[in-house]
Amino acid sequence: MKVLVPVKRVVDKDIKVRVKSDGSGVDIANVKMSMNPFDEIAVEEAVRLKEKGVATEVIAVSCGEAKCQETLRTAMAIGADRGILVESAEELQPLAVAKLLKALVDKEQPGLVILGKQAIDDDANQTGQMLAALADLPQGTFAGKVEVEGDKVKVTREVDSGLETVTLSVPAVITADLRLNEPRYVTLPNIMKAKKKQLDTLKPEELGVDVAPRLKTLKVSEPPKRGAGVKVPDVATLVDKLKNEAKVI
Ligand code: AMP
Repeated sequence: MKVLVPVKRVVDKDIKVRVKSDGSGVDIANVKMSMNPFDEIAVEEAVRLKEKGVATEVIAVSCGEAKCQETLRTAMAIGADRGILVESAEELQPLAVAKLLKALVDKEQPGLVILGKQAIDDDANQTGQMLAALADLPQGTFAGKVEVEGDKVKVTREVDSGLETVTLSVPAVITADLRLNEPRYVTLPNIMKAKKKQLDTLKPEELGVDVAPRLKTLKVSEPPKRGAGVKVPDVATLVDKLKNEAKVI
């Protein structure tokens, strides 16, 4: 069973981004970029499935500019067997990425597609769901546990009310939540090995996909500044402040 893992190149999680002065977006010039953290978890899960003998091949795919090759090399250093870059200079919105992934699903016929539950830059939480709809595949989103049993996959989902377990027939789409696993550290020998792995580049046109944006960003602004905290001497003062100043109780 092949496993396809989409990995997005995003601003590193430890970077505090700044909004551009014209409000058109976030300034990402000269900012450290990394693999979306949920995608690292997705790659780790796919590689563990391969180590267990469940998966036969792990293919990482990234859509975006040429620099996404670095993200693919990281995925291959974790253990993915090969990478596919769908190269585009356009701003790729979740629907465009889902369409590109659908075309790759048709081409590669994976048993599982494991995505991150959301990208930490756009926080869209849409691509996996859109892909499942476009490819007409069952979906197990926010996975905290994945167990493949023959042609079924049991996914324990992290939902507001607790844990929900669903069984899907493969092929299926899964999105990885934080507690699915703890990704391994990438070692230097594996980084070196990853450099020699196969990396193919495709253009959206070769996949027959129109990636033109469907949404227009009107404005990006900083969240309002938080005021400094104060220390209160006792519970009565705290309750009074919550009631009369913050007006939250
Ligand atoms: P989003 O719907 O944008 O929050 O992204 C959810 C997941 O879709 C991410 O965690 C990735 O696994 C995948 N994804 C989104 N954008 C891309 C991209 N440009 N290239 C590869 N995978 C992507």
